[in-house]
Amino acid sequence: MIAHRLGGSCACGAVAVEVGLGRELAAYSPRACDCDFCCKRGAAWLSDSAGFLRLRTNAGQDLKRERQGSEQAEFLSCAACGTLLAVRWRDDDGHAYGAVNARVLARHDEFASEQGASPKLLEAAEKTARWKVLWFADVEVATG
Ligand SMILES: [Zn+2]
Repeated sequence: MIAHRLGGSCACGAVAVEVGLGRELAAYSPRACDCDFCCKRGAAWLSDSAGFLRLRTNAGQDLKRERQGSEQAEFLSCAACGTLLAVRWRDDDGHAYGAVNARVLARHDEFASEQGASPKLLEAAEKTARWKVLWFADVEVATG
């Protein structure tokens, strides 16, 4: 059940984000990943396997898609302003899982304190097993 719907966008407004969350906002601690890629881009990841994640770009805008580290997941940023918005991973069945950069969401100050995370210490198979449990399982990306 969705308890909260939160909107957000990149710095220039070309990409809108909407998430649905199943619990109270204070029940979530965004995970500040300690890898170089996420630190430089100021990402703190939030996900809820009971919720949903949607990204939509304005007409004519596109997303920048990048892979880094173990190259399993795809990082989605605004191609115009560079704001890092989300990360997405597909399993072998083509099912898309994802997490959102909590710092782009409205009301992000109502989440619990951010916690550090070191996914680079995990093996590839451990990572994907975690993503299947923790990440949004309902991810939609629409480019205009
Ligand atoms: Zn932008």
